[in-house]
Amino acid sequence: MESKIVLANRVQQIKPSPTLAVNAKAKALKASGADILNFSVGEPDFDTPPHVCDAGKQAIDEGFTRYTAVPGIIELREAIANRMAQDRGWKYEPDQIQVCCGGKHGLYNMAQALFNPGDEVLVPTPYWVSYPAIIQLSGATPVFVPLAEEDDFDLKADILAQYATAKTKGIIINSPSNPTGSIFSAQALESIGKMALERGWIVISDDIYDTITYGEGTLAHILDVNPALKEQTLVLNGVSKSFAMTGWRIGYTAGPQHIISAMNKIQSQSTSNPSSVAQKAALAAVSGPQDFPVRMKEAFVPRLDFIMNALREIPDVSCVLPKGAFYVFPNLSAYYGRSFNGKKIEDSVALADYLLDEALLATVPGAAFGADKFIRFSFATSMDIIKEGMKRLASALARLQ
Ligand SMILES: *Cc1c(COP(=O)(O)O)cnc(C)c1O
Repeated sequence: MESKIVLANRVQQIKPSPTLAVNAKAKALKASGADILNFSVGEPDFDTPPHVCDAGKQAIDEGFTRYTAVPGIIELREAIANRMAQDRGWKYEPDQIQVCCGGKHGLYNMAQALFNPGDEVLVPTPYWVSYPAIIQLSGATPVFVPLAEEDDFDLKADILAQYATAKTKGIIINSPSNPTGSIFSAQALESIGKMALERGWIVISDDIYDTITYGEGTLAHILDVNPALKEQTLVLNGVSKSFAMTGWRIGYTAGPQHIISAMNKIQSQSTSNPSSVAQKAALAAVSGPQDFPVRMKEAFVPRLDFIMNALREIPDVSCVLPKGAFYVFPNLSAYYGRSFNGKKIEDSVALADYLLDEALLATVPGAAFGADKFIRFSFATSMDIIKEGMKRLASALARLQ
């Protein structure tokens, strides 16, 4: 029976995360006994390190199970400030930091605190799936700035200028990027910084993958371009990826005090503090030894090498070499227009569906990231699965004609 209850406009305009949809279908197939290889997952395939788990257990045993300060316990905010100072040389006071329920929640609080209907927010595309929805939920409009495969998905100043208007309120950058694995060059960051300063934009830097980079050199950061940018930049991060803590739900934002204060107001009237127990675990992660993220990254290197080599051997596939995160984002569009059993594959959704049905590979279609020519494969999975998966991919693509 059709319900009489009409849902709010805001929920009707946003799409459910397509990554979750693929995951659900893959899980259902798996439950029915199919030998699904899962390349769709956006989290490390590592357990949270023991010293971090112990800190969480100890918090429970010691009765640290009540409300905390809304923006997080002071020890954790101090530890985050110290880590940023030590690793990056940035100076933040604890009242310039908000701890929240995961990196995604930090973005949500930011959008609610900053954006009005009519505001435009620049989103370099391919983008992380949640940016458009989070912007739309605030009433603002995401404006997609295309990044080209030929440019290694780096941002070009002249392209950026084409999408900036008088309504532009800010820009979200994500380097290293999910889904492309690309990082923005110092030059790209300089042009963003220059426009942001001239036009008074807020820069939102989603740094969630900053511990997972490959190759030589340090990761360029927008805050290092011009010290004045600190007054109009929010740095978002968390322990989900760096310490394999996706289920603990701890993220944080550092930025100008008046913006953090506004975000605290939003948080105080919605979630209140993030889990007290998870905060203690995050404190152990942020203030303790930093070898875990390094070891995790080292484990990703041979997988990245293998998957890139395998992709290079498949005809008509191109793939930008990722410089960070744990995804490859090959361009498979040469296969669009080809058919299997008389059924034509027209786009990334159809191809991902074909790979799931015919090769038992769970992936995420590029359409989910605003880039229909591509499909995202996560290599946060075992080498055995990657080897078998690439074999299946090559043979499934070869069967299309
Ligand atoms: C995983 C991820 C986040 C944060 O995830 P949480 O689980 O909410 O901490 C933020 N941005 C990007 C691009 C991500 O991939």
